[in-house]
Amino acid sequence: MARGTKFEIALLPGDGIGVEVTEAALEVLKALCGRVGGIDLAFTRYAAGARAYQQTGTALSAETLRALERADAMLLGAMGWPDIRYPDGTEISPQLDIREHFELYAGVRPIRALPGLPPRLADSRAAEIDFVLVREQTEGLFFERGKGPVTENEARDALVITRERSERVFDFAFRLAGHRKAGGRPGRVTCVDKANVLASMAFFRKVFEERAKRFPEIRADSAYVDATALNLVLRPWSFDVMVTENMFGDILSDLAAGLIGGMGMAPSGDIGDEHALFQPAHGSAPDITGQGKANPTAAFLSCAMMLDWLGERRKAAPCHDAARMLERAVERCFAERRVLPPEFGGSSGTADITRAVIDALGS
Ligand code: ATP
Repeated sequence: MARGTKFEIALLPGDGIGVEVTEAALEVLKALCGRVGGIDLAFTRYAAGARAYQQTGTALSAETLRALERADAMLLGAMGWPDIRYPDGTEISPQLDIREHFELYAGVRPIRALPGLPPRLADSRAAEIDFVLVREQTEGLFFERGKGPVTENEARDALVITRERSERVFDFAFRLAGHRKAGGRPGRVTCVDKANVLASMAFFRKVFEERAKRFPEIRADSAYVDATALNLVLRPWSFDVMVTENMFGDILSDLAAGLIGGMGMAPSGDIGDEHALFQPAHGSAPDITGQGKANPTAAFLSCAMMLDWLGERRKAAPCHDAARMLERAVERCFAERRVLPPEFGGSSGTADITRAVIDALGS
Protein backbone atom coordinates (compact mmCIF):
# COMPACT_ATOMS: atom_id res chain seq x y z
CA MET A 1 0.00 0.00 0.00
CA ALA A 2 1.33 3.46 -0.88
CA ARG A 3 2.89 5.48 1.95
CA GLY A 4 0.73 8.11 3.58
CA THR A 5 -2.54 6.24 3.37
CA LYS A 6 -2.55 4.52 6.75
CA PHE A 7 -4.52 6.40 9.38
CA GLU A 8 -5.04 5.82 13.09
CA ILE A 9 -8.63 6.70 13.97
CA ALA A 10 -9.62 7.14 17.61
CA LEU A 11 -13.21 6.00 18.16
CA LEU A 12 -15.15 7.58 21.00
CA PRO A 13 -18.64 6.03 20.83
CA GLY A 14 -19.74 7.76 24.06
CA ASP A 15 -23.31 7.34 25.26
CA GLY A 16 -26.80 6.40 24.10
CA ILE A 17 -27.33 6.41 20.35
CA GLY A 18 -23.74 7.66 20.01
CA VAL A 19 -22.67 4.04 20.50
CA GLU A 20 -25.25 2.77 17.99
CA VAL A 21 -24.40 5.17 15.17
CA THR A 22 -20.65 4.74 15.73
CA GLU A 23 -20.95 0.97 15.27
CA ALA A 24 -22.96 1.61 12.09
CA ALA A 25 -20.32 4.07 10.85
CA LEU A 26 -17.58 1.56 11.51
CA GLU A 27 -19.34 -1.09 9.40
CA VAL A 28 -19.77 1.38 6.56
CA LEU A 29 -16.16 2.61 6.73
CA LYS A 30 -14.83 -0.95 6.62
CA ALA A 31 -16.96 -1.74 3.56
CA LEU A 32 -15.96 1.56 1.96
CA CYS A 33 -12.22 0.97 2.39
CA GLY A 34 -12.65 -2.50 0.92
CA ARG A 35 -14.25 -0.93 -2.17
CA VAL A 36 -11.96 2.07 -2.70
CA GLY A 37 -8.55 0.57 -1.91
CA GLY A 38 -5.45 2.59 -1.04
CA ILE A 39 -6.72 3.59 2.42
CA ASP A 40 -5.95 1.71 5.61
CA LEU A 41 -7.97 2.87 8.61
CA ALA A 42 -6.92 1.41 11.98
CA PHE A 43 -9.53 1.98 14.69
CA THR A 44 -8.97 2.09 18.45
CA ARG A 45 -11.93 2.48 20.81
CA TYR A 46 -11.75 4.67 23.90
CA ALA A 47 -14.24 4.90 26.75
CA ALA A 48 -15.29 8.48 27.48
CA GLY A 49 -18.53 10.18 28.45
CA ALA A 50 -21.25 9.70 31.04
CA ARG A 51 -21.15 5.87 31.20
CA ALA A 52 -17.37 5.95 31.47
CA TYR A 53 -17.72 8.42 34.33
CA GLN A 54 -20.26 6.16 36.05
CA GLN A 55 -18.06 3.11 35.70
CA THR A 56 -14.62 4.60 36.38
CA GLY A 57 -15.20 7.96 38.03
CA THR A 58 -13.51 9.70 35.06
CA ALA A 59 -15.30 11.02 31.98
CA LEU A 60 -12.10 11.39 29.95
CA SER A 61 -8.85 10.06 31.39
CA ALA A 62 -5.47 11.74 30.94
CA GLU A 63 -4.28 8.52 29.33
CA THR A 64 -7.08 8.64 26.73
CA LEU A 65 -6.30 12.28 26.03
CA ARG A 66 -2.64 11.36 25.36
CA ALA A 67 -3.75 8.57 23.03
CA LEU A 68 -6.00 11.02 21.16
CA GLU A 69 -2.98 13.28 20.65
CA ARG A 70 -1.33 10.49 18.66
CA ALA A 71 -4.39 9.69 16.50
CA ASP A 72 -4.75 11.06 12.98
CA ALA A 73 -8.41 11.89 13.58
CA MET A 74 -11.14 11.38 16.17
CA LEU A 75 -14.57 9.93 15.40
CA LEU A 76 -17.12 10.51 18.15
CA GLY A 77 -20.70 9.31 18.67
CA ALA A 78 -22.34 11.49 21.31
CA MET A 79 -21.70 12.10 24.98
CA GLY A 80 -23.87 12.85 27.99
CA TRP A 81 -26.78 11.27 29.79
CA PRO A 82 -29.45 13.12 31.79
CA ASP A 83 -29.26 10.95 34.93
CA ILE A 84 -25.49 10.82 35.16
CA ARG A 85 -24.03 14.12 36.28
CA TYR A 86 -21.06 15.58 38.13
CA PRO A 87 -21.64 16.16 41.86
CA ASP A 88 -22.34 19.87 41.16
CA GLY A 89 -25.24 18.84 38.87
CA THR A 90 -23.60 19.81 35.55
CA GLU A 91 -23.78 17.53 32.51
CA ILE A 92 -20.92 15.28 31.53
CA SER A 93 -19.66 16.47 28.17
CA PRO A 94 -15.95 15.72 27.80
CA GLN A 95 -16.18 16.58 24.12
CA LEU A 96 -15.91 20.20 25.31
CA ASP A 97 -12.62 19.29 27.04
CA ILE A 98 -11.42 17.67 23.83
CA ARG A 99 -12.33 20.81 21.86
CA GLU A 100 -10.41 22.94 24.32
CA HIS A 101 -7.38 20.65 24.63
CA PHE A 102 -6.88 20.39 20.86
CA GLU A 103 -8.04 23.96 20.07
CA LEU A 104 -10.71 22.72 17.67
CA TYR A 105 -11.80 26.25 16.95
CA ALA A 106 -13.97 25.78 13.87
CA GLY A 107 -17.28 23.97 14.38
CA VAL A 108 -18.19 23.05 10.82
CA ARG A 109 -21.86 22.16 10.23
CA PRO A 110 -22.72 21.45 6.58
CA ILE A 111 -26.45 21.61 5.87
CA ARG A 112 -27.51 20.05 2.56
CA ALA A 113 -30.91 18.81 1.42
CA LEU A 114 -30.64 15.28 0.08
CA PRO A 115 -32.64 14.47 -3.04
CA GLY A 116 -35.55 12.09 -2.62
CA LEU A 117 -36.39 12.94 0.98
CA PRO A 118 -39.70 14.66 1.74
CA PRO A 119 -38.87 18.40 2.04
CA ARG A 120 -39.31 20.12 5.38
CA LEU A 121 -40.30 23.42 3.73
CA ALA A 122 -43.10 23.85 1.20
CA ASP A 123 -41.05 25.97 -1.25
CA SER A 124 -39.54 23.84 -4.04
CA ARG A 125 -36.24 25.73 -3.63
CA ALA A 126 -35.77 23.85 -0.33
CA ALA A 127 -34.20 21.14 -2.49
CA GLU A 128 -31.35 23.63 -3.16
CA ILE A 129 -30.38 24.05 0.50
CA ASP A 130 -26.59 23.74 0.64
CA PHE A 131 -24.72 25.88 3.14
CA VAL A 132 -22.14 25.52 5.89
CA LEU A 133 -22.37 27.09 9.31
CA VAL A 134 -18.97 27.71 10.90
CA ARG A 135 -19.15 28.20 14.64
CA GLU A 136 -16.26 29.72 16.61
CA GLN A 137 -15.90 27.32 19.51
CA THR A 138 -13.16 28.46 21.84
CA GLU A 139 -14.59 31.67 23.29
CA GLY A 140 -17.73 33.80 22.80
CA LEU A 141 -20.47 33.24 25.36
CA PHE A 142 -19.09 29.78 26.21
CA PHE A 143 -15.81 31.31 27.37
CA GLU A 144 -16.44 30.73 31.08
CA ARG A 145 -18.08 27.32 30.57
CA GLY A 146 -20.31 27.53 33.60
CA LYS A 147 -17.63 29.06 35.85
CA GLY A 148 -18.97 32.63 35.73
CA PRO A 149 -19.54 34.32 39.10
CA VAL A 150 -22.83 33.54 40.83
CA THR A 151 -24.04 35.25 44.00
CA GLU A 152 -27.33 35.07 45.81
CA ASN A 153 -28.77 37.76 43.54
CA GLU A 154 -26.79 37.72 40.33
CA ALA A 155 -25.13 35.40 37.82
CA ARG A 156 -22.80 36.36 34.97
CA ASP A 157 -21.26 34.78 31.90
CA ALA A 158 -18.77 36.92 30.02
CA LEU A 159 -18.94 37.05 26.21
CA VAL A 160 -15.30 37.20 25.13
CA ILE A 161 -14.19 37.97 21.57
CA THR A 162 -10.49 38.25 20.79
CA ARG A 163 -8.90 39.44 17.56
CA GLU A 164 -6.63 36.41 17.18
CA ARG A 165 -9.34 33.78 17.62
CA SER A 166 -11.79 35.68 15.44
CA GLU A 167 -9.24 36.08 12.66
CA ARG A 168 -8.41 32.38 12.56
CA VAL A 169 -12.06 31.31 12.31
CA PHE A 170 -12.81 33.99 9.69
CA ASP A 171 -9.83 32.84 7.63
CA PHE A 172 -11.10 29.27 7.93
CA ALA A 173 -14.54 30.34 6.67
CA PHE A 174 -13.06 32.29 3.74
CA ARG A 175 -10.84 29.35 2.74
CA LEU A 176 -13.86 27.03 2.96
CA ALA A 177 -15.90 29.38 0.75
CA GLY A 178 -12.97 29.34 -1.71
CA HIS A 179 -13.03 25.51 -1.87
CA ARG A 180 -16.78 25.54 -2.35
CA LYS A 181 -16.50 28.22 -5.05
CA ALA A 182 -14.12 25.95 -6.96
CA GLY A 183 -16.96 23.39 -6.87
CA GLY A 184 -19.53 25.81 -8.28
CA ARG A 185 -20.95 27.46 -5.17
CA PRO A 186 -21.26 31.30 -5.03
CA GLY A 187 -18.16 32.03 -2.90
CA ARG A 188 -19.73 34.07 -0.14
CA VAL A 189 -19.24 34.34 3.63
CA THR A 190 -21.86 35.92 5.89
CA CYS A 191 -20.79 37.05 9.36
CA VAL A 192 -23.70 36.46 11.74
CA ASP A 193 -23.61 38.73 14.78
CA LYS A 194 -25.46 41.20 16.98
CA ALA A 195 -23.30 44.19 16.11
CA ASN A 196 -26.18 46.62 16.61
CA VAL A 197 -26.40 45.93 20.35
CA LEU A 198 -23.24 44.35 21.78
CA ALA A 199 -19.77 45.93 21.76
CA SER A 200 -18.20 42.47 21.54
CA MET A 201 -20.23 41.73 18.42
CA ALA A 202 -19.46 45.09 16.80
CA PHE A 203 -15.79 44.19 17.30
CA PHE A 204 -16.42 40.73 15.81
CA ARG A 205 -17.93 42.35 12.69
CA LYS A 206 -15.11 44.91 12.42
CA VAL A 207 -12.44 42.19 12.49
CA PHE A 208 -14.48 40.21 9.93
CA GLU A 209 -14.59 43.17 7.55
CA GLU A 210 -10.85 43.76 7.94
CA ARG A 211 -10.09 40.09 7.31
CA ALA A 212 -12.40 39.95 4.29
CA LYS A 213 -10.00 42.28 2.43
CA ARG A 214 -7.48 39.41 2.29
CA PHE A 215 -9.94 37.29 0.31
CA PRO A 216 -11.09 39.59 -2.52
CA GLU A 217 -12.43 36.68 -4.59
CA ILE A 218 -14.99 35.88 -1.86
CA ARG A 219 -18.05 38.05 -1.27
CA ALA A 220 -18.34 39.09 2.36
CA ASP A 221 -21.44 40.40 4.08
CA SER A 222 -22.86 40.59 7.58
CA ALA A 223 -26.27 39.93 9.10
CA TYR A 224 -27.82 40.16 12.55
CA VAL A 225 -28.48 36.84 14.21
CA ASP A 226 -32.21 37.48 14.70
CA ALA A 227 -32.71 38.34 11.02
CA THR A 228 -30.64 35.29 10.11
CA ALA A 229 -32.93 33.02 12.16
CA LEU A 230 -35.84 34.40 10.15
CA ASN A 231 -34.09 34.04 6.80
CA LEU A 232 -32.94 30.52 7.58
CA VAL A 233 -36.61 29.58 7.65
CA LEU A 234 -37.78 31.87 4.79
CA ARG A 235 -34.92 31.36 2.29
CA PRO A 236 -32.22 28.98 3.54
CA TRP A 237 -31.15 28.27 -0.06
CA SER A 238 -29.71 31.80 -0.25
CA PHE A 239 -26.79 31.09 2.14
CA ASP A 240 -23.34 29.77 1.28
CA VAL A 241 -20.94 29.92 4.26
CA MET A 242 -21.90 31.53 7.57
CA VAL A 243 -19.47 32.27 10.38
CA THR A 244 -20.65 33.11 13.85
CA GLU A 245 -20.01 33.30 17.59
CA ASN A 246 -20.11 30.17 19.76
CA MET A 247 -23.59 30.47 21.32
CA PHE A 248 -25.26 31.78 18.16
CA GLY A 249 -23.71 28.87 16.27
CA ASP A 250 -24.96 26.39 18.86
CA ILE A 251 -28.54 27.56 18.41
CA LEU A 252 -28.54 28.16 14.66
CA SER A 253 -26.99 24.78 13.89
CA ASP A 254 -29.93 22.94 15.49
CA LEU A 255 -32.36 25.19 13.60
CA ALA A 256 -30.43 24.47 10.41
CA ALA A 257 -30.53 20.69 11.03
CA GLY A 258 -34.31 20.98 11.29
CA LEU A 259 -34.43 22.42 7.76
CA ILE A 260 -33.09 19.18 6.29
CA GLY A 261 -35.02 16.72 8.42
CA GLY A 262 -33.57 16.73 11.92
CA MET A 263 -30.50 15.93 13.96
CA GLY A 264 -30.02 12.52 12.37
CA MET A 265 -29.22 14.21 9.04
CA ALA A 266 -26.65 16.79 10.23
CA PRO A 267 -22.94 15.92 10.25
CA SER A 268 -20.25 18.01 11.91
CA GLY A 269 -16.53 18.48 12.25
CA ASP A 270 -14.64 20.23 15.05
CA ILE A 271 -11.52 21.35 13.29
CA GLY A 272 -8.27 22.89 14.48
CA ASP A 273 -4.93 23.49 12.79
CA GLU A 274 -3.46 20.11 13.76
CA HIS A 275 -6.32 17.94 14.99
CA ALA A 276 -9.94 17.31 14.15
CA LEU A 277 -12.91 15.46 15.56
CA PHE A 278 -15.93 14.36 13.55
CA GLN A 279 -19.33 13.49 14.94
CA PRO A 280 -23.02 13.65 14.10
CA ALA A 281 -24.41 16.96 15.36
CA HIS A 282 -26.93 15.19 17.61
CA GLY A 283 -26.70 14.22 21.26
CA SER A 284 -27.13 10.83 22.95
CA ALA A 285 -30.95 10.94 22.44
CA PRO A 286 -32.08 8.92 25.51
CA ASP A 287 -35.66 8.90 24.15
CA ILE A 288 -34.75 6.53 21.31
CA THR A 289 -31.67 4.76 22.71
CA GLY A 290 -31.72 0.97 22.52
CA GLN A 291 -34.62 0.84 20.06
CA GLY A 292 -32.65 0.60 16.82
CA LYS A 293 -34.31 3.81 15.61
CA ALA A 294 -31.30 6.15 15.47
CA ASN A 295 -30.72 7.53 12.00
CA PRO A 296 -27.01 6.95 11.26
CA THR A 297 -26.93 9.27 8.22
CA ALA A 298 -25.32 12.16 10.12
CA ALA A 299 -22.62 9.79 11.38
CA PHE A 300 -21.94 8.52 7.83
CA LEU A 301 -21.71 12.04 6.42
CA SER A 302 -19.36 12.96 9.30
CA CYS A 303 -17.14 10.07 8.18
CA ALA A 304 -17.06 11.58 4.67
CA MET A 305 -15.96 14.90 6.21
CA MET A 306 -13.23 13.07 8.12
CA LEU A 307 -11.98 11.38 4.95
CA ASP A 308 -11.83 14.74 3.15
CA TRP A 309 -9.90 16.28 6.05
CA LEU A 310 -7.43 13.36 6.15
CA GLY A 311 -7.06 13.51 2.37
CA GLU A 312 -6.33 17.23 2.52
CA ARG A 313 -3.67 16.85 5.22
CA ARG A 314 -1.84 13.93 3.66
CA LYS A 315 -2.57 14.84 0.05
CA ALA A 316 -4.13 11.39 -0.28
CA ALA A 317 -6.50 11.34 -3.24
CA PRO A 318 -8.12 7.98 -2.33
CA CYS A 319 -9.54 9.62 0.80
CA HIS A 320 -11.44 12.14 -1.34
CA ASP A 321 -12.57 9.34 -3.67
CA ALA A 322 -13.87 7.43 -0.65
CA ALA A 323 -15.65 10.51 0.71
CA ARG A 324 -17.43 11.07 -2.61
CA MET A 325 -18.34 7.37 -2.89
CA LEU A 326 -19.83 7.41 0.60
CA GLU A 327 -21.82 10.59 -0.03
CA ARG A 328 -23.12 9.21 -3.31
CA ALA A 329 -24.15 5.94 -1.64
CA VAL A 330 -26.10 7.84 1.05
CA GLU A 331 -27.75 10.01 -1.60
CA ARG A 332 -28.66 7.01 -3.75
CA CYS A 333 -30.36 5.24 -0.82
CA PHE A 334 -32.75 8.12 -0.32
CA ALA A 335 -33.13 9.17 -3.96
CA GLU A 336 -34.11 5.61 -4.91
CA ARG A 337 -36.33 5.34 -1.82
CA ARG A 338 -34.51 2.25 -0.60
CA VAL A 339 -34.97 3.55 2.96
CA LEU A 340 -36.93 6.26 4.77
CA PRO A 341 -36.02 7.18 8.38
CA PRO A 342 -38.73 7.71 11.03
CA GLU A 343 -38.13 11.51 11.06
CA PHE A 344 -39.55 11.51 7.53
CA GLY A 345 -42.48 9.24 8.32
CA GLY A 346 -40.74 5.99 7.37
CA SER A 347 -39.74 3.02 9.46
CA SER A 348 -36.13 2.34 8.41
CA GLY A 349 -34.00 1.87 11.50
CA THR A 350 -30.24 2.04 12.07
CA ALA A 351 -29.58 -1.46 10.69
CA ASP A 352 -31.76 -0.93 7.56
CA ILE A 353 -30.05 2.33 6.65
CA THR A 354 -26.58 0.91 7.32
CA ARG A 355 -27.25 -2.13 5.13
CA ALA A 356 -28.73 0.03 2.37
CA VAL A 357 -25.72 2.36 2.34
CA ILE A 358 -23.28 -0.58 2.24
CA ASP A 359 -25.24 -2.11 -0.66
CA ALA A 360 -25.32 1.24 -2.46
CA LEU A 361 -21.50 1.54 -2.22
CA GLY A 362 -21.26 -1.19 -4.79
CA SER A 363 -24.04 -0.17 -7.13
P1 ATP B 1 -27.41 17.47 23.31
O1 ATP B 1 -27.80 18.50 24.31
O2 ATP B 1 -26.50 16.41 23.85
O3 ATP B 1 -26.98 18.02 21.98
P2 ATP B 1 -30.16 17.28 22.72
O4 ATP B 1 -30.86 17.45 24.02
O5 ATP B 1 -30.06 18.46 21.80
O6 ATP B 1 -28.72 16.66 22.98
P3 ATP B 1 -30.48 15.17 20.93
O7 ATP B 1 -29.91 13.99 21.60
O8 ATP B 1 -29.65 15.78 19.87
O9 ATP B 1 -30.90 16.15 22.03
O10 ATP B 1 -31.89 14.82 20.35
C1 ATP B 1 -32.88 15.80 20.06
C2 ATP B 1 -34.05 15.10 19.42
O11 ATP B 1 -33.67 14.62 18.14
C3 ATP B 1 -34.52 13.89 20.22
O12 ATP B 1 -35.92 13.84 20.24
C4 ATP B 1 -33.98 12.71 19.48
O13 ATP B 1 -34.80 11.59 19.53
C5 ATP B 1 -33.85 13.22 18.05
N1 ATP B 1 -32.64 12.65 17.43
C6 ATP B 1 -31.38 13.01 17.70
N2 ATP B 1 -30.52 12.30 16.97
C7 ATP B 1 -31.26 11.46 16.21
C8 ATP B 1 -30.94 10.46 15.25
N3 ATP B 1 -29.69 10.17 14.92
N4 ATP B 1 -31.96 9.79 14.67
C9 ATP B 1 -33.22 10.07 15.00
N5 ATP B 1 -33.58 11.00 15.89
C10 ATP B 1 -32.62 11.69 16.50
